[in-house]
Amino acid sequence: MSGTEELSAAFRGRFGTEPACYRAPGRVNLIGEHTDYNDGFVMPAAIEYEARVAAAPRRDTRVRLVSRNTGDSTEFDLADPDPRPRKDWSDYARGTALMLERAGYAISGADIMLDSSVPIGSGLSSSAAFEVVIGYALLSLAGIAVDTVELAKLGQKAENEFVGMRCGIMDQFISANGAVGHALMIDCRSLETRKVPIDSRARIVVANSMVHHAHAGGEYNKRRVSCEQGVALLAPALETDIKALRDVTPEMLEAHKALLPEETYRRCRHIVTENVRVLNAAEALAKGNLGAFGALMDASHLSMRDDYEISCAEIDRLVEIARVQPGVFGSRMTGGGFGGSTVSLVAAEAVEDFTSATRDAYFAATGHRAEVFACSPQAGVGPLAC
Ligand code: ADP
Ligand code: MG
Repeated sequence: MSGTEELSAAFRGRFGTEPACYRAPGRVNLIGEHTDYNDGFVMPAAIEYEARVAAAPRRDTRVRLVSRNTGDSTEFDLADPDPRPRKDWSDYARGTALMLERAGYAISGADIMLDSSVPIGSGLSSSAAFEVVIGYALLSLAGIAVDTVELAKLGQKAENEFVGMRCGIMDQFISANGAVGHALMIDCRSLETRKVPIDSRARIVVANSMVHHAHAGGEYNKRRVSCEQGVALLAPALETDIKALRDVTPEMLEAHKALLPEETYRRCRHIVTENVRVLNAAEALAKGNLGAFGALMDASHLSMRDDYEISCAEIDRLVEIARVQPGVFGSRMTGGGFGGSTVSLVAAEAVEDFTSATRDAYFAATGHRAEVFACSPQAGVGPLAC
């Protein structure tokens, strides 16, 4: 049985009705970290790991949800006049349903079984895949055509306002709008996208460090506060109107460096230089200049490590290990940080050796068994045959 057949069989066993199935992918971000909530640029790709659901509508307003990954089940009622976060996994689903309702979508109750291959808390965005697939399923079951950009915005709103994680739009956007064979360069202010083809001479290789440090969510939100503080301190001194760090160039920041506390300055420097790196990276890929793209990935990692301080010892180790392997163009941490995964751009013929050498060297250095795998960009959310 395929994974989806097994899921739909398990659904029938549990709920006794015939489901429809849907999928939404996790993602890897090639470059542009923490720039999304600064109205800046990012370049993610949807990957093979995905959240799948089997789901059937109900006649009432109850939503019953089971996760095959954790074995947990939960239930909520769409008619509840005052839904409160429970501070557990159900908040992602409850929040998404709530934002759909607040946006005016007439969704109804449903039985849903979730099975996700996106590793949880590994920087590959299991949470966005979960939100996007739930939103897509609830809309589809109600016979509503899905606007995938709107769906991404509502998933982000759920995570911001209901879960309490102040993430940007990147994860939900790429899970909802991924393109086969392409990364997407996204302007997170206008939500305009440019498809960036991945050169066939290279592969995107993800290495999951298998470590995730506590308090990552709190640190994430703190970084947002630093960026907002930077904008508030710089705005009065600048001639042009600035709304976000997106509007600040590296030159402007250097000229007004004295206005900022040292740490805030470094946080802002990561964002303003990262935005430039994303734009340059898109140019490099368009010209087939993999070496230039890789050098920008390397620079991005140093900026995350030293200026934004969102890396950790294990991730730095993985990046160091990757960089000295033959055929590697560049390597960096990917995702929110404090553990999770790295992404490397590797010459196609070198991938096999890269994968085993990286695993071995990382195990020797840390005692952790990294999962290392090459991925190909996938399509965004959609229906699946059950
Ligand atoms: P990630 O980097 O994977 O997005 P997050 O901390 O943002 O990490 O989200 C992980 C959380 O999302 C989990 O702690 C859980 O609450 C929820 N989640 C994601 N996938 C599943 C799943 N398959 N089953 C249950 N909960 C899930
Ligand atoms: Mg997440």
